[in-house]
Amino acid sequence: MLMKLENIKVIMVGTTHPGNIGAAARAMNNMCFTQLVLVDPQCPIGEVAYARASGANAILDAHKIHDRLETAIADCQYVIATSARRRSLAWPELEPREMVEKLSTMEAGSRAALVFGREHSGLTNEEIQLCNGMVCIPTNPEFSSLNIASAIQVLCYEIFRQQSVKPDSKIEDKDLPASSAEVEGYFTHLKQLLEDYDLLDPEQPGTIMTRFRRLYLRSELTHKEINILRGMLTAIEKQRR
Ligand code: SAH
Repeated sequence: MLMKLENIKVIMVGTTHPGNIGAAARAMNNMCFTQLVLVDPQCPIGEVAYARASGANAILDAHKIHDRLETAIADCQYVIATSARRRSLAWPELEPREMVEKLSTMEAGSRAALVFGREHSGLTNEEIQLCNGMVCIPTNPEFSSLNIASAIQVLCYEIFRQQSVKPDSKIEDKDLPASSAEVEGYFTHLKQLLEDYDLLDPEQPGTIMTRFRRLYLRSELTHKEINILRGMLTAIEKQRR
């Protein structure tokens, strides 16, 4: 992810409940987002909002207000509308995951916005048509509308999570995934050892090796991990002799 989270605005259009604005600030702060923009808010940003922000005051203090969505997104290169439901109007639809992928390909200095609609009526078609695409969070089809702050939480989390995954963080010192041949070599070795210790009857092997295969294959072993495991088997064999 090249984009900075401070360059991704959260825009709330026509919000009527101050508690939702406070809860949105809290959700943003949890996920390291800072830019809250209110378009034509229908309520005061006072005590109720601050109470629900639970300490995310800096985000509320710094909120910006615009009359119209056009001006709020004017400096953004990529703008995503959000909606609880499919619209009659076909607009490029993205899964949250696809949105994150798109954001991750953008230049470091670029700006983006996530646009959230009114509690009762969502975004208008005109507002959606100002955006590059539309994201719908998958839900129970019978009950698809999330509270707006919950929707903000989910999408900010998706972006935050991707950003905190650094390349190579999973595998240290360039430890490559083990090849199938290496893994199979380990299984052969393990089977032999289990037989030597009478833990596995070659005539009636049962499901033990299948269970070991499932266990190890599920964990996507690396080259070094295989070497450690085989080293252990070899040490046990030596003890036996
Ligand atoms: N009755 C409205 C619901 C609005 S909910 C409608 O049908 O559009 C308020 C806002 O929360 C929505 O405009 C959207 O920004 C966000 N939201 C709610 N549920 C969502 C979902 N499943 N996916 C994406 N955004 C959602």
